Amino acid sequence: MQLAVDRHDDVVSAVSARGARHDWTRSQALSLYAAPFNDLLFAAHTVHRRSFDPNRIQMSRLLSIKTGGCAEDCGYCSQSAHHATGLKASKLMAVEAVVGEARKARAAGATRYCMGAAWREPKARDMDQLVAMVEGVKGLGMETCMTLGMLSGEDALRLAEAGLDYYNHNIDTSESHYNAVISTRTFQDRLDTLERVRAAGMKVCCGGILGMGEGKEDRVDMLVTLANLSVHPESVPINLLIPIAGTPLQAAPKLDTIEFVRTIATARIMMPASYVRLSAGRTDMTDEMQAMCFFAGANSIFAGDKLLTADNPEADADTELFARLGLKPLAPEDITREGEAEQGHDG
Ligand code: SF4
Repeated sequence: MQLAVDRHDDVVSAVSARGARHDWTRSQALSLYAAPFNDLLFAAHTVHRRSFDPNRIQMSRLLSIKTGGCAEDCGYCSQSAHHATGLKASKLMAVEAVVGEARKARAAGATRYCMGAAWREPKARDMDQLVAMVEGVKGLGMETCMTLGMLSGEDALRLAEAGLDYYNHNIDTSESHYNAVISTRTFQDRLDTLERVRAAGMKVCCGGILGMGEGKEDRVDMLVTLANLSVHPESVPINLLIPIAGTPLQAAPKLDTIEFVRTIATARIMMPASYVRLSAGRTDMTDEMQAMCFFAGANSIFAGDKLLTADNPEADADTELFARLGLKPLAPEDITREGEAEQGHDG
């Protein structure tokens, strides 16, 4: 089928292009992002179908293994010790408790288990416990993911050797908007951690948050940074800010839904074989908005009624939405097959 446009060459070439690119310019990405909405969605959905079954959604489950009291000052976060959010800090959970929760998540259909700790970085004394958690969850036959803040090369290697499949570390936003959101670590610190994760042989989960007062150029710049990494992140979580009382971003202006969907579609086109995840903020999205995101190329969600400290849709709401849209959770064997496809695209 021919695209009936001649003024939007970037959309046409995005559909015709095969394989992953790592040389996006801001103007190319912006031109995609700003294309007529129908053209952008058509292009994104066409690209999406080349790598994925459009009716399968990968389901992850996220557990906060250590909550609150974080030394960082991320302006959106309820867990920062810098913000008066009233959140009670807790200690690192026991290994058996984490593995027990993972077992329940597996029984409920999750194939990947993500464990998050509110830290600037893990301390040496915590590493044995973290390694045991990875081994325990891995032993259940699930994919494992952790998000623990910055990582040294040595810690990255230890976690990889324990069987950690993914490490989540978001860049959050564009480099130029970054300082308006976080001051305690730099954009480059984040890129350095991502490099260490890759060097240790783990897959990368990296994305950002929309609705933090950024402009469309910032959303596009964030995608350009992600897509121009030497290997695309295998998972790209796109969060919608949940404004939390007591944080500097509590009164951030609400992002237009169409802008959110444009970002998902542009991410899909620029990182054609990555799982693009609708992450935090789904409680503020209508079913119709989520349906549009799935059409635009989102193919992963967090299941479960809690995301670290924030609310997430109840399991019943997701089951009902999946039934209405004819979507099915991705089975573990499908992940292996599509994971091999990813390697092919990037390698
Ligand atoms: S986002 Fe992570 S690093 Fe930033 S304050 Fe929250 S828990 Fe700490």
